[in-house]
Amino acid sequence: MSDLLITNIGELTTNACPEPAEGSAADRFGMLHDAAVFIEDGLISWVGPTAQAPAAGEVVDAAGRAVIPGFVDSHSHLVFGGDRAAEFEARMAGQKYAAGGIRSTVAATRTATDDQLRTRVRRFLDEMLAQGTTTVEIKSGYGLDVPTEERLVRLAAEVTSEVTFLGAHVVPAEYADRGDEYVDLVIGDMLDACAPHAKWIDVFCETGAFTVPQSRRVLEAGIARGLMPRVHASQLGPGEGVRLAVELGAASVDHGTYLTDDDVAALAASDTVLTLLPGVEFSTRQPYPDARRLIDAGVTVALACDTNPGSSFTSSMPFCIAVAVRDMGMTTAEAVWAATAGGAAALRRDDIGVVAPGKRADLVMLDAPTRVHLAYRPGVPLVKQVWKDGVTAWRKDQHGSAA
Ligand SMILES: [Zn+2]
Repeated sequence: MSDLLITNIGELTTNACPEPAEGSAADRFGMLHDAAVFIEDGLISWVGPTAQAPAAGEVVDAAGRAVIPGFVDSHSHLVFGGDRAAEFEARMAGQKYAAGGIRSTVAATRTATDDQLRTRVRRFLDEMLAQGTTTVEIKSGYGLDVPTEERLVRLAAEVTSEVTFLGAHVVPAEYADRGDEYVDLVIGDMLDACAPHAKWIDVFCETGAFTVPQSRRVLEAGIARGLMPRVHASQLGPGEGVRLAVELGAASVDHGTYLTDDDVAALAASDTVLTLLPGVEFSTRQPYPDARRLIDAGVTVALACDTNPGSSFTSSMPFCIAVAVRDMGMTTAEAVWAATAGGAAALRRDDIGVVAPGKRADLVMLDAPTRVHLAYRPGVPLVKQVWKDGVTAWRKDQHGSAA
């Protein structure tokens, strides 16, 4: 039995609203001041004022720093070969983003070995951890043939339980103008090969990718195999993808850059989370979605990085929070909630994203007195220490002057 007490936390974001402990005030994001967290065997067992903290075998003094739940990045595409820096450069020089660029990554991914892909994924996970991310969802979608899609979900399953089969990412070049035949493959042999490694089924429902009827076939086939649905929709223009996602009970519909009032109303009346991906708008020069409109309408909003080589090659949740606050109308409290508890909701998880007894001890200590610094100090590495299941998974370089 191992126990750990993190004490003297200047500002603790719990995302839980229990009765405020005596002497502390809780807001609707469950913020506590001068707080402590007690951890036993990887789980949080007590949260309260430092003055009332129990004794522990190991004590970490936060010295007034802020602590938040570990980030839950519910949307990433980490298993791929190659790089599209030249495409990014051309886009910044004025070229428009189109879904077809995915095909160049497909060619590079098919020729990469398992070990090359594995090494790359682990490097991305390390850089995410250093930025406070403790849970990552990973999609396939750069194989687009049966053997490569099977490799991608299998490699993803080596490092996360949140694996998404996205064979319907784009129609591959060899099926050009034969989208329906490609969907037959996705819901046939490809699903047979990938379903054992995956928890989720996903589809890119967008002009240039898959139509609404094709998307429905993909999602319904996945559901019939026991996978749970999530959808990419309304990234490049308005469409019916959001309403399809809501109708099929998707855990999340992701992007949502172009939403109609009907989409917003359907989301607000549903359990489907809308996951905003501000790295995409940043990297493709699209207009940012209006998170304020969604939150005010009662939609549950998550934030994720969508780490991928084409449209969003950031792995930084703090960066996404900064953009969401600066350009999408979110308060810092809402953005941090969306990047933690919101991500957990988008993955239908209730064991993470919250600092409360019984939850996993996935925590991030910031080298800052408040979570506001995540948006206030954009681009600055503010993560001091990360715990995953109560164990230190990352700590700021000892050579740094921040002691
Ligand atoms: Zn994506």
